[in-house]
Amino acid sequence: MAEFLPEPFRIKVVEPIKQTSREERAHILEVAGYNLFNVPAEEVYIDLLTDSGTGAMSQEQWAGIMLGDESYAGCRNYFHLAETIRSIFGFHYFLPTHQGRGAENILFSVLVKPGQHVPNNMHFDTTMGNILARGGRPSNHVIVTGHDPTAWHPFKGNMDIAALETFIRQVGAENIPLGMITITNNSGGGQPVSMENIRQTAEVYHRYGIPFFIDACRYAENAYFIKQREPGYADKSLLEIAREMFSYADGCTMSAKKDGLVNIGGFLAMNDETLYQKAAQELTLREGFPTYGGLAGRDLEAMARGLWEGLDEAYLRYRIAQTHYLADQLRENGIPIFEPPGGHAVYVDARRFVPHIPAEQFPAQSLCVALYLEGGIRAAEIGGVAFAHRDPETGEWVYPSLELVRLTLPRRVYTQSHLDYVVRILAALWQKRDQVRGLQIVYQTPYLRHFTARFALM
Ligand SMILES: *Cc1c(COP(=O)(O)O)cnc(C)c1O
Repeated sequence: MAEFLPEPFRIKVVEPIKQTSREERAHILEVAGYNLFNVPAEEVYIDLLTDSGTGAMSQEQWAGIMLGDESYAGCRNYFHLAETIRSIFGFHYFLPTHQGRGAENILFSVLVKPGQHVPNNMHFDTTMGNILARGGRPSNHVIVTGHDPTAWHPFKGNMDIAALETFIRQVGAENIPLGMITITNNSGGGQPVSMENIRQTAEVYHRYGIPFFIDACRYAENAYFIKQREPGYADKSLLEIAREMFSYADGCTMSAKKDGLVNIGGFLAMNDETLYQKAAQELTLREGFPTYGGLAGRDLEAMARGLWEGLDEAYLRYRIAQTHYLADQLRENGIPIFEPPGGHAVYVDARRFVPHIPAEQFPAQSLCVALYLEGGIRAAEIGGVAFAHRDPETGEWVYPSLELVRLTLPRRVYTQSHLDYVVRILAALWQKRDQVRGLQIVYQTPYLRHFTARFALM
């Protein structure tokens, strides 16, 4: 039986959410062109589209908002954030940005030249996009097991160290301006990376003189998995584990909308002074002066406080237990999921849920639509709509190997009974899964079509 771990907080502010009728939802879907990005959030009962910026801030964070110092230069909240980042991440320099992709843009604009390669265990779509936008070439080197939806591995986000080294030798270290690793691996099921693997990855990059940056969005969840699963870390604090992870790297990019527990914010951190100065210039052009970086003073304060709360063990125990509770309940109902569940989401395997829907009718998107119709639940499609591309040679559509429906859990937002409701709706859908209808695209754009495409029911 799934463990029930009660929430380590109580609710002080209430946001009403609306339940709609099936008839209303059928109409809303039709108007939205069967694309859930077009559905107004107020028409969604349980919104599991993303965990990015959707969390609930604490009373400490809201109190911090009132202590915002909105001076243009040198506001006190900047110094609080600087002290926090130095304590947790340990890097010498940092620049605040409005969110994670702001940090990526600044970093890659300074380092990446056209034709150069940036390896990773698995790039997130924004790091991939920002590298491509500089004419660079992103590449993924996660372990083979990381692609298998059923195989169990404690650190399924690990880098394939041998494959990485072969790749570096092939393209030449001089063509790799930086190397990365993403913790946890969002694009690959939210899977963690072990400390040993981070150390080995750093060792390979550094042996070839390549600067090593961590995509740190869910570093706290990753630290918690290391404490739970990696020998030698059970008695270490999460702060000690975080410090050790970052001690192997030369810098990091961070979306504080994830483990920073804020609705907006991020940063870029590094040890190299010359790089910092170049990045600070770029930041001043694109985001803002280096002591605010596109954020209000109050946002910096909420981020400083959120970063500490995100590392709290009672919070993380609850957070990971909540994800695993949802996964256990779905599994007990026979629903196929990507195993094992990661930190921030449970991914339903649409290929096995609706095997009668072929890839070109978008199984994961079809299931997302059915889930909204059945219970007003919004999930994210991680499949052919977002990731299919045309083969540059033949012009044929190439579909991704995985068709997943991501049930992403916002931090401290939904209770256990909300999750029980999600399970009930998915179980009902599972019973009549052969009635789920495929979709065809009737409108699309050349890039990032998942945000704008319109569909018709088959
Ligand atoms: C969310 C995310 C980003 C980008 O951050 P934004 O704040 O959305 O710009 C980068 N990498 C990973 C792994 C992410 O999950």
